[in-house]
Amino acid sequence: MNDNLKFYGADVSELIRDYGTPLYIVSEDYIRERCAEIRKSFTEKYPNTRAVYASKAFQTLDMCKIINSEGLGFDVVSGGELYAAIKAGVNPENIIFHGNSKTVWELEEAASAKVGTIVVDNMSELELLNEVAGREGIKQKILLRITPGVDSHTHRYISTGQLDSKFGFSADEALDTAVEKALQYENIDLYGVHFHVGSQLLENDSHIMAVEIILEMLGKLKEKYGFIARELNCGGGFGVHYAGDPERLPISIFVDKIMELIDQFYEKSGDERPTVIIEPGRWMISEAGITAYEVGSVKTNATGRIYVGVDGGMSDNPRVALYEAKYEVVAVEKYGEECTEKVTIAGKCCESGDILAWDVMLPPLERGDHIVLLCTGAYNFVMACNYNKMPRPAVVTVSDGVPRLSVRRQTYDDMLIGEI
Ligand code: PLP
Repeated sequence: MNDNLKFYGADVSELIRDYGTPLYIVSEDYIRERCAEIRKSFTEKYPNTRAVYASKAFQTLDMCKIINSEGLGFDVVSGGELYAAIKAGVNPENIIFHGNSKTVWELEEAASAKVGTIVVDNMSELELLNEVAGREGIKQKILLRITPGVDSHTHRYISTGQLDSKFGFSADEALDTAVEKALQYENIDLYGVHFHVGSQLLENDSHIMAVEIILEMLGKLKEKYGFIARELNCGGGFGVHYAGDPERLPISIFVDKIMELIDQFYEKSGDERPTVIIEPGRWMISEAGITAYEVGSVKTNATGRIYVGVDGGMSDNPRVALYEAKYEVVAVEKYGEECTEKVTIAGKCCESGDILAWDVMLPPLERGDHIVLLCTGAYNFVMACNYNKMPRPAVVTVSDGVPRLSVRRQTYDDMLIGEI
């Protein structure tokens, strides 16, 4: 008999029996371990630093509460994410509001909620925010988002720091104008700058290059405008282990080098070093999550490829279709049996591109068996959609081996809410 597949102390077959499939399973223990690593290697090691969780990677009320209890701040990127974080009890002061195309009402919501920091992406937003903050009677703390011109080694859809990017100001005249204006505007408090080079980075050279560029740029801004940053936000992007990738790196590999460069720069300049901020998303949550599916059809086509159809797909995990993400797949009941068959895991959405994993080795599977995809914690649940009217799966959080329902499965009626 096989040992049952366990995930952080929980029996996966039992979770499937109790909560059904498809099912997102999340480990609270893993998330808390990452928070502890951040404290040990960053916020407690280096004075005057902060870590905020990029909630776009995975946001539920339950997750917000976990992160909040660990003392991290939050990065949000829309009015909806802001609303959910506040609803979960997050202090708005600890929220950083991002976005390349914020709407007027989102800026109003952020200002009236007294969000700690707004990261301004472009000139028209800066003008608008000055007006909004004026109406609100506040002086809004902001950072300017800079595109450092670093082409990170990652898929181009998750690379953000290159010159041709939809995000931020490039370090040229546009930035100069923005700094000049921000320093003049009555209702704006220009606190510093932000950059984010890209996601799923498994080396630290892109961050190092970006920090070097940003520091040089800050030197020039001081010369021109006397502007000395009080905050330097280095974004997120720290990678994790997907199929075919190296292992996740400890956070120290990224932050130690960044801190060394920043400290050297400020020692030399004689100015006080700004607060340094990081914004990890994927690194905190991706490996904390797996998704369980039930096998439906199993068939071999004319080319000899074996397709294993499951009860979910791109509606709960669009990452394969979006940027050819690769996942490790494990059989649940047949866990530990010899993996003798090369199969392709197909989703049930009506798209040929709806494949969850190409050519993975598994034991022979049949209808009613279950499989799990590993490392699905980040950018799955939050990217889920109702294509083909597929209800969004439930989220179960396992803490110390004990499961609890964090998000219930959508019903057909849930999907019709709002339809007239
Ligand atoms: N910060 C900003 C501004 C981002 O745009 C992102 C991701 O897009 C993140 C942080 C988090 O990135 P990751 O999940 O790769 O850590």
